[in-house]
Amino acid sequence: MASSRNIPSDDDAYNNYTERMREVEYPMLKDSIYLDHAGTTLFSKTLMERFHAEMMANLYGNPHSASPSSQKSTQTIEDARLRLLRFFNADPDHFDLIFTANATAAIKLVGHAFREKHNSFSYRYHVDSHTSVVGVRELAHNYSCLDSDGAVEKWINRLDVEEHTERSTLFAYPAQSNMDGRRLPLHWCRSVQASASRAYTLLDAAAYASTSPLDLGNVDAAPDFSALSLYKIFGFPDLGALIVKKSAAHVFEQRRYFGGGTVDLVVCLKEQWHASKSGPLHERLEDGTLPIHSILALEPALQTHEELFGTLERISEHTAKLASELYERLLSLKHGSGRPVCAIYKYENSSYGDRSTQGPIVAFNLQDGKGEWVSNAEVEKLASIKNIHLRTGGVCNPGGVATALKLAPWEMKENFSAGHRCGSENDIMNGKPTGVIRVSLGAMSTRSDVDRFLSFVDEFFVDKSQTLGSSMTSLADRGEQPFHVESLTVYPIKSCGGWRIPHDRQWEIRPEGLAWDREWCIVHQGTGKALSQKHYPRMALIRPCLDFEAGTLRVHLAGSSGQISVPLSKNPALYGSSLRARHTSVCGDPLRTFMYASAAMTDFFTKAVGVPCTLARFDPASTSSRHSKLHLLPHSQSQTRGASRPILLSNESPILTISRSSLNRLNEQIKTKGGKAAHPSVFRANIVLAENRMLSPRQEQPWAEDKWHSMRIGGEEGTLFDILGGCRRCQMVCVDQENSEKNSEPFVTLAKTRRFDGRVLFGVHTALAKTGGKRSTITVGDVVDTFRQQEVIE
Ligand SMILES: *Cc1c(COP(=O)(O)O)cnc(C)c1O
Repeated sequence: MASSRNIPSDDDAYNNYTERMREVEYPMLKDSIYLDHAGTTLFSKTLMERFHAEMMANLYGNPHSASPSSQKSTQTIEDARLRLLRFFNADPDHFDLIFTANATAAIKLVGHAFREKHNSFSYRYHVDSHTSVVGVRELAHNYSCLDSDGAVEKWINRLDVEEHTERSTLFAYPAQSNMDGRRLPLHWCRSVQASASRAYTLLDAAAYASTSPLDLGNVDAAPDFSALSLYKIFGFPDLGALIVKKSAAHVFEQRRYFGGGTVDLVVCLKEQWHASKSGPLHERLEDGTLPIHSILALEPALQTHEELFGTLERISEHTAKLASELYERLLSLKHGSGRPVCAIYKYENSSYGDRSTQGPIVAFNLQDGKGEWVSNAEVEKLASIKNIHLRTGGVCNPGGVATALKLAPWEMKENFSAGHRCGSENDIMNGKPTGVIRVSLGAMSTRSDVDRFLSFVDEFFVDKSQTLGSSMTSLADRGEQPFHVESLTVYPIKSCGGWRIPHDRQWEIRPEGLAWDREWCIVHQGTGKALSQKHYPRMALIRPCLDFEAGTLRVHLAGSSGQISVPLSKNPALYGSSLRARHTSVCGDPLRTFMYASAAMTDFFTKAVGVPCTLARFDPASTSSRHSKLHLLPHSQSQTRGASRPILLSNESPILTISRSSLNRLNEQIKTKGGKAAHPSVFRANIVLAENRMLSPRQEQPWAEDKWHSMRIGGEEGTLFDILGGCRRCQMVCVDQENSEKNSEPFVTLAKTRRFDGRVLFGVHTALAKTGGKRSTITVGDVVDTFRQQEVIE
């Protein structure tokens, strides 16, 4: 793009300009709505071209030698350092800048220096701090969390009296919270330094500086230490920086470690002595070779940023306007019942109209028409279908999130003991959310992002019905027609293609499921984790086939001629010498499997999936170690029934059953909106039930299975099954099992029509009844009798 372009000052014009510029400069954003700018990593086209040209045209050597190429690097690095100081209006007479790997490394550098001080240090941090700032407390002699602005003011007022002991104090806080975007008072730095205490200030400006100019022009008011993430400002390069006020540089004097580049002379033999560098602070702190090429990219990054966006002040205005609109519109969203849709977490004294108190981030949770919390895992799933990139969960801000969600420490510990971890699916615990949804705007955000995000919330999360709650569950109770088994499928390799059981074959059912279902899985060779089609859709193309005549499982890859076979026998002697026992994890459960380690095997699967992986077989010795994880599923008449079913490698329960009539109903709904009807295979069921073929669609009984408690397959003498509850769905149902392509249906329609308490359900989890039956086999064509809770089964 030409450097002479004019950046409009008018808001609407600037927005339109950004929209057009983005098409050219950020082609990767074409179909995506990127709302995670606080961690932006996007490269603009001009910047990459400029950096490329620079690297091709010049010879840059390793610094610290006398060659011209080395000198050129050293000079360019010093220029970049100065240029960056000026970017923050920091006078090089009063400030030095140390390059670090990221903002966390900058924060750690300060923490470690204080720890090595004579009397260690006292640490005070604001409750809104990022995890990386909180962690410094572990280095301190004593510490406390200042849990409100009032607590900070009170602490500052008492500084003269209380904290002028022999021990230094470090006070750290974020200029902007990375959780809700509130901006904290920058004047605290001046107040602390004006006191007669030995207190220093560490300002975490990593989030703030990406959408607001950080001005260190007033030396007295500037923090002693400012930590920055340069990639959050420019997208590239991956660098952090620490800006140190020279009047505080003595803090680093007791630093004990030295590395290459930070000493003048080291004596090792007989005597142990070294002379640290005496030059500028950065020479004493930058251990080892600097990330040269990243630093060389700074000049082009600064130049391009200015050309594309103008000043940070302009970005600040633009993003504030968008955030304000987003906030107001989310706030006014209402369900048909009149209840609000969003619970927004905003600091009480900040306002989206005031840039000094609020940055362009909105943190919130969604509630359904009945006022129940919507699971963030569900929001993420739907957002990813719509190519919306946002962040949910604890967002690396433990104090901020706990305050917003009013989670007491005991509750957080209790949730932790109950299995809650960052990123886990069960994110509503004891009726309270454990994380937030964070929408964060940045330099390249535009009004169309805001519009599209709001239509997304409106489309999926606003219940338009007037009554409280939705009417989805109130299905007319009609007299049931008998179902029969339409087809049976096993998935010998977890997450790969299915194998249809032949029509005339009696198939054995075990407590863990259908015989030969999920006996094998594909594991990553590095992590030992079982791979899933959710992340690797190509796994649908891996087609296993059970060949009982030959006693082998044959596996081929659709669209290629390669094929591989493994023995069906469980006798390890037949596996060959290349088998190794290995600890694996399936859906987070530790498990022992036998891994096939031959080159032919690893090659086949690695080529098929596209990551280093191989086949593994469930170790029968660990059968008892996995059990189904059905927690409190709606429609499960008895909520404890799922709890103790043994399973092999399947995700949740031994058997999955779906109804053809329900699928037909779903497909009708998809087709009325012009969507692509779902093939039954996308649901990866074991048992597909259908009604009498002579029924017209109007006589079908879609969703009858919601009410089933148990079923008997094969007539009066048949096998009895328990229905454990609805099966929770994710975007994996959008992978076409024929060609592994991803669609947005059927998940979009399912999410609108089959969502119960935030869970999208299709099909029912099933298990062999503990009471068993006269025989434990089923055959295609078998008649199915279904029972509801009130019906007594002999
Ligand atoms: C991103 C961020 C950090 C951590 O930055 P890294 O570059 O990932 O180390 C720290 N604090 C805040 C406020 C942030 O937004």
